[in-house]
Amino acid sequence: MTGSSVINGEKTSISAADQADITVVFGRTGTPESAAHGVTALLVPMDAPGLTTNRFDCHGQRAIGRGSIFFENVRVPVNHRLGEENKGFVQVMHGFDFSRSLIGLQCLAVARVALEETWEYITQRQAFGQPLSAFQGVTHPLAQFDTEVEGARLVCLQGLWLKDKGLPHSAEAGMAKWWGPKLAYDVIHQCLLCFGHGGYDRGPMEQRLRDVLGFQIGDGTAQIMKTIIARTRAGRKFVPA
Ligand SMILES: Cc1cc2nc3c(=O)[nH]c(=O)nc-3n(C[C@H](O)[C@H](O)[C@H](O)COP(=O)(O)OP(=O)(O)OC[C@H]3O[C@@H](n4cnc5c(N)ncnc54)[C@H](O)[C@@H]3O)c2cc1C
Repeated sequence: MTGSSVINGEKTSISAADQADITVVFGRTGTPESAAHGVTALLVPMDAPGLTTNRFDCHGQRAIGRGSIFFENVRVPVNHRLGEENKGFVQVMHGFDFSRSLIGLQCLAVARVALEETWEYITQRQAFGQPLSAFQGVTHPLAQFDTEVEGARLVCLQGLWLKDKGLPHSAEAGMAKWWGPKLAYDVIHQCLLCFGHGGYDRGPMEQRLRDVLGFQIGDGTAQIMKTIIARTRAGRKFVPA
């Protein structure tokens, strides 16, 4: 790459697309055959000539928003390159092994708050002459989810601990990323039901449900995470796709 790079195309489904001042673009600089080893990272100002955005109507995370970024002959000077030429994809994958544990913790924190509010609520709300907490059908699902949230949190922390020690942690990051958001969604769903009709109103519980759902997709879906875990355990050549 010399002088400047010219970017053309669309990248869709970008968080904060219409709010960001700068974006990191991963563009193909090698041949198609070079696959993951022919991608370069570039820092692109969002006010660059030829760059436009739109905004989607999202189910959750509405304050952040999501949209497409369109590039029409967007020219970027060579000194905006991040890291080495053609190494962008490999670089970002290391970052994913970090962010995936953080996403797990982010979702589990929302689940933890939902549980705390629900434990409190079921001691206050009276039904059939007793607090809801007197009914095993109400408390046992919460007790089980409380247990699972503690377990999933430890998996996320294990991934971060391994990273700090400079040890392999792709499998743990994959576990944190698929389990944390999925579990958080299931926990909040159960909590919402404990609030009865009130849980279905616009409010914190339904918003939490919408907000964590996006994390089951963004940054890699559960299927991709499970493939990463399987490749780590069984070996890449035995788990082709
Ligand atoms: C809230 C949110 C925020 C996002 N923010 C960003 C962002 O800031 N930047 C960014 O670049 N992207 C962002 N994304 C996009 C996100 O990374 C992709 O949507 C995600 O990686 C899935 O890709 P896809 O939508 O193309 O689904 P597809 O690849 O079309 O997959 C569709 C379904 O098929 C399954 N599938 C696909 N391939 C396989 C396979 N090989 N084996 C098994 N199952 C498979 C998937 O798991 C999924 O269930 C965001 C998405 C969301 C929802």
